Amino acid sequence: MSTKKVELIAAPKPAHFVGDGFRVHNFIPSGYHLDMKRMDPFIMLDYNSKFHFSGTDTPRGVGVHPHRGFETVTIAYQGRVEHGDSSGGGGIIGQGDVQWMTAASGVLHKEFHETEWAKEGGIFQMVQLWVNLPAKDKMSPPKYQAIKNSEMKNVDLGENGFIEVIAGEFNGEKGPATTFSPVNLMNAKLKSGGKAIFSFPEGFTTAALVIEGKIIVNEKEKVPTDHLVLFGNEGEDFTIETSEDSIVLVISGKPLNEPIYPHGPFVMNTREEIIQAFNDYNTGKFGYLED
Ligand code: MN
Repeated sequence: MSTKKVELIAAPKPAHFVGDGFRVHNFIPSGYHLDMKRMDPFIMLDYNSKFHFSGTDTPRGVGVHPHRGFETVTIAYQGRVEHGDSSGGGGIIGQGDVQWMTAASGVLHKEFHETEWAKEGGIFQMVQLWVNLPAKDKMSPPKYQAIKNSEMKNVDLGENGFIEVIAGEFNGEKGPATTFSPVNLMNAKLKSGGKAIFSFPEGFTTAALVIEGKIIVNEKEKVPTDHLVLFGNEGEDFTIETSEDSIVLVISGKPLNEPIYPHGPFVMNTREEIIQAFNDYNTGKFGYLED
């Protein structure tokens, strides 16, 4: 077993608003070299670091918009979000829960703070990760996986804390989400003084985002709160340790190694497929969703 070396520690870029409900730092694809090709199969990562929203009777968020060709994974750390889409899917993503939406052939959806939460307001903290789909699956039917926190696989590390596995596996323990290509997604919830050893196959694209606390990677590299650490694809193992209670989102996936042709809310393999996506969208093939 050889070590996965730290390739980059990325500070959060200045935040921008997506709609009026998501104040995000974009990490993928970004001005660092965290572009879609380097981060394959991960094509977008927006991080709403802790931000206070005041109470309102008009929930904030993003109105109706389409997606095709990939999956959106929403991980709620604080606050609640309500999604709805043209295939009849959706639901409330509560604190600690994950929604894994396979847009695939296409959906229209909207993403808003959940009504009751919005009335109270409070601290909001969330990640949205886009996972690309293999070419052969891009036009498969849309689907949802609503993953409650209680359904995640907790791997107990004793006094070190635990690993909450959402997809893929940690130490052979599998998470509940199904994926179209090999993807590992988990929260390391480490206690002060805790340490965890991760192992992912050689060649996998691997990164970790510090949600809470601060960590030391491979016994020497310090990664502060709200920073992302990218590992080299060579090697297999790395360690995370911490001197305070911490939460770290760990992602690792096998690159698809297929052409990537993104345009706005569509991510396909060729320009022709993007033109087709716009045609299908403009002729109502994504269905209908009320504002
Ligand atoms: Mn969306």
